[in-house]
Amino acid sequence: MGRTVIRNGLVITAADEVTADVLIDGEQVVALGMPGSGLADTWSDGAERVIDATGRYVVPGGVDVHTHMELPFGGTFASDTFETGTRAAAWGGTTTIVDFAVQGVGQSLREGLDNWFAKAEGECAIDYGFHMIMGDVNDQSLKEMDVLVGEGITSFKLFMAYPGVFYSDDGQILRAMQSASGNGSLIMMHAENGIAIDVLIAQALERGQTDPKYHGVVRHALLEAEATHRAIQLARVAGAPVYIVHLSALEALAEVTAARDLGLNAFAETCPQYLYLSTDDLARPGFEGSKYVCSTPLRPVEHQAELWKGLRTNDLSVVSTDHCPFCFKEQKELGVGDFSKIPNGLPGVETRMDLLHQAVIDGHISRRRWIEIACTTPARMFGLYPRKGTIAPGADADVVIYDPAAEQVMSAETHHMNVDYSCYEGRTLTGKVATVLSRGKVVVDGGEYLGRKGDGKYLTRDTCQYLT
Ligand SMILES: [Zn+2]
Repeated sequence: MGRTVIRNGLVITAADEVTADVLIDGEQVVALGMPGSGLADTWSDGAERVIDATGRYVVPGGVDVHTHMELPFGGTFASDTFETGTRAAAWGGTTTIVDFAVQGVGQSLREGLDNWFAKAEGECAIDYGFHMIMGDVNDQSLKEMDVLVGEGITSFKLFMAYPGVFYSDDGQILRAMQSASGNGSLIMMHAENGIAIDVLIAQALERGQTDPKYHGVVRHALLEAEATHRAIQLARVAGAPVYIVHLSALEALAEVTAARDLGLNAFAETCPQYLYLSTDDLARPGFEGSKYVCSTPLRPVEHQAELWKGLRTNDLSVVSTDHCPFCFKEQKELGVGDFSKIPNGLPGVETRMDLLHQAVIDGHISRRRWIEIACTTPARMFGLYPRKGTIAPGADADVVIYDPAAEQVMSAETHHMNVDYSCYEGRTLTGKVATVLSRGKVVVDGGEYLGRKGDGKYLTRDTCQYLT
């Protein structure tokens, strides 16, 4: 692969906004130069490709650290495979995902991880790494954690929800955190009190409350806040950092804010669905609300302002998608007459960069903060920076040329995720991906997908780069 020059775009990173020419050699960015300077002008001589980015943004490819391709859940599987899901990600300007390998009950971490390697190998359009879901914390799997950290799996997800499936009790959580404290890994927590939620589910169903909207009622905001508080205190006892996934309730955010005000290594992410959707969507008539069933659940609309504030103050430092799509037909429909049987999850891997650009247009965040929460911080949080998450000499040439003025209408008709609905059907956005490079290769350009499955490589990760 030869040289590519991207000329005269506004290069936006978490740190800077500068009009610059970007020189790519092979798979890496090698230099930024001043447009029109004698030096940068020479770069085009002999280049394989020169892209004029005048009037456009040149930004790092998105880093989505929370996806669930092909996840088995509730008797079915998430409808995007690694092939379809990573291709959709590329369409939306995301060039790295970190997906979750799953250790089932009775399995070793190794067995679970090998299954996920087999699913992803040779299938991905973009680079990918893995976190490990610990579904069975015991003496054996705790020992295996250290080995996996050495192999570049540096984060482990535990669940305070889903008793009988992924659930860990407080003793298991404490032990895993103690191990993390020793081996430098990061514990990611699904913070909801699943034992209490299961009681509320049974009581609701007994009362005949079977519609999708009750999913949001039984998964009470205070049960997210309680679990968030407990996760943080357990992490303090263990001397370990903790990262709260898919935070949606303002009461849970208050717990994270309090911890961070104490100077603790407590971090949290939220997702676009919590910023743009609400319990009003869960309460849509008929069975439409099932399209909005995910956990943690969507919250009343007044939570959104607090989440935006958290993103500005860095109490929320990452926006990931929790991409876990299920088709309305035959998958979400498993829960007709019983909301607790609706598979939990929403599509989103393709739309995150655009929805967050819209937040720039709407005045919620700055352009640099857009890149920071969608690219740079996720890369640093999970040991991928500076190879991923920025545009700088030595970084992988994962680059998006973004048209900030283009308008688009979101729709299942035009998206590339393998799912039969859009959570944002008919919504108009300003801004659209024009061209995507993944390690120097143009994979999306002019409304065409030019990559192929297997372009994406597995990423060995370092440990979290934020710990103090
Ligand atoms: Zn998840």
